Amino acid sequence: MMAAKGNAFSVMMNSQKRKLADGAAKTASQPAKKGHWSMGLLSSMEDPALKVDSDDRVVIIKDKYPKARYHWLVLPKENIPSLKAVSSEQLDLLKHMHKKGQELIDRTEDAKHLIDLSFRLGYHAIPSMSHLHLHVISQDFDSPCLKHKKHWNSFTTDYFIDSEEVMEELEKDGKIADKGSRNDRLKDPLRCHVCKKEQVNMPKLKAHILSHIAKPGDKK
Ligand code: AMP
Ligand code: ZN
Repeated sequence: MMAAKGNAFSVMMNSQKRKLADGAAKTASQPAKKGHWSMGLLSSMEDPALKVDSDDRVVIIKDKYPKARYHWLVLPKENIPSLKAVSSEQLDLLKHMHKKGQELIDRTEDAKHLIDLSFRLGYHAIPSMSHLHLHVISQDFDSPCLKHKKHWNSFTTDYFIDSEEVMEELEKDGKIADKGSRNDRLKDPLRCHVCKKEQVNMPKLKAHILSHIAKPGDKK
């Protein structure tokens, strides 16, 4: 009885948390208060344990809950809450963020050539965390933090928008259109991102994707 109550409470709290997060990232006019969990990226930008690189315009950190073997976030030093607040003025900054992410991937060559990993750079349609961040993520998705369907679909459906697509849209339209309608993608069936076969649940999917990861010594 108690357990059922506890579950209902945590379901309610989690749904509340997502609403708050979406709101935090949504409203440039009403930013979340300092110290709110959705502002956590700001403190992580200062955390030497997470920081991997920086220059005068950006900071790169390790994602605190990585969804793959390599998962970084590139963040501008300038205060930009999300893609909604971006205009043509920031096109050069977005290009710079992409370039810094790509350079980091290239520097990781030593480790990744052993397993021949590919990477994607992109943004979530509806970010949960405030402060603009570009995901740089390897496509193995081999991580204990990748647990839920929402996690999977947020990186493997068009909920994940490639950085190139975002830069093209900004160059063409001078702004990024609201991508809120892509929220439904999170409920899509679980599908392997490599062979597209549908999988019945997360444990089956996680076991399946391991079969696509080349191991050291495999023929390329
Ligand atoms: P999203 O806002 O959905 O684009 O993704 C936010 C990302 O930030 C997720 O991949 C989280 O794992 C990651 N994350 C959440 N909190 C922190 C934190 N305090 N420091 C670093 N990364 C975080
Ligand atoms: Zn597959």
